[in-house]
Amino acid sequence: MQNLERYERQLRIEGWRQDKLAESTVMVIGVGAIGCEVAKNLTLMGVGRLIIVDNDVVEVSNLSRQMLFTDDDVGRPKTVAAKEKLVKMNPLVIVDQYYSDVRELSEDLFRKAEVVCSCLDNWPVRRWVNSMCIELDKPLVDVAMEGLYSNLQVVIPGKTACLECHGEDLIPREIQLAECTLRRRKPEDLKKDLEEQKIHVSLDLVERLFEVGIKTIFDIKYSQAQILDKLDEDVRIKVREIQESLKPKMPALQSVAATIAGIATTEIVKILHGESLGRILNGLLVYDGYSTRFTKVKLMRKIECFACGEHVKTEGAEISVSLDDRVIDLKKKIAESFGFPDPEILYKKWRLQDDQTLREVGIKDGDITYVETSRRFTPLPLKLILKTS
Ligand SMILES: [Zn+2]
Repeated sequence: MQNLERYERQLRIEGWRQDKLAESTVMVIGVGAIGCEVAKNLTLMGVGRLIIVDNDVVEVSNLSRQMLFTDDDVGRPKTVAAKEKLVKMNPLVIVDQYYSDVRELSEDLFRKAEVVCSCLDNWPVRRWVNSMCIELDKPLVDVAMEGLYSNLQVVIPGKTACLECHGEDLIPREIQLAECTLRRRKPEDLKKDLEEQKIHVSLDLVERLFEVGIKTIFDIKYSQAQILDKLDEDVRIKVREIQESLKPKMPALQSVAATIAGIATTEIVKILHGESLGRILNGLLVYDGYSTRFTKVKLMRKIECFACGEHVKTEGAEISVSLDDRVIDLKKKIAESFGFPDPEILYKKWRLQDDQTLREVGIKDGDITYVETSRRFTPLPLKLILKTS
């Protein structure tokens, strides 16, 4: 009965089903300005279980907009501090918190969620989450903002466009280019790149990073914990310091976060209702706070999308090669075609070596290889089509 009183006003909404909310689990990835708002909204409305994920701690500069945190929380993991506030707001909601990189969590955890809401501030991990949602057939609500602009995309796997369907238009050019960099790099190159960012490190340090495959600034920013774990403690601490100084510091405003997070939460609730509460946003919604303008962009699913295309899922993506290509050439082609910065190619039981030619590997026309990359939840099946010359 306490429930009925608590939710009395929302129960008056036509088509509202509190039971649907109460039996649902929603995963919120990233507990920043937008993530705080979404988690708060879902908690107040009485979602059954909330899974919150973030690998950061609270900083003073978060306090102007990350509404679940106070001065007392500075230095504490965001998820721990957020959970404390959320269970006070509504003790009927179960909150599971994971102070972790989302890419380190078990697949079973994602399976528990009815909807995934991505409130991340970087493309590499957003792309990873997109691939995971498609693989596990989970609706994804992706939200992001910069300054007075924000955007929202709802992905219903198999039905609506995913983040990669129009990745070439939606993912900023400079990120695409950085993603495609696949050069024969030397430790000196990384040292130089860091110096351009005003970060000075010893050659010995970058050499040790190269040993575990960290070759670019992108690798430093977005390497998963399991790669960093291979480093000695002193190097790892240094990498964390560098990561800290490389953190994107985009302009951000609480009111814009609250606006887009409010809309995102309504879409999540509509998904949980199974459309009985209204039509779910199809495509992309852009909010421009400067001119108070909302723009809806209809996105068509791309048949040949390498993340969600039906054919790709069953048959694999395709790429044309010649037997004289070396593995490094194929990797370059993959990096350019799919925007994977660090592809590894698996064939039969082997991980292919850069200097081998495809003839030496024994590739035949139509063979399937698997491309491993930190931008995907699972390796991408890739069919090699031999060029007839
Ligand atoms: Zn797609």
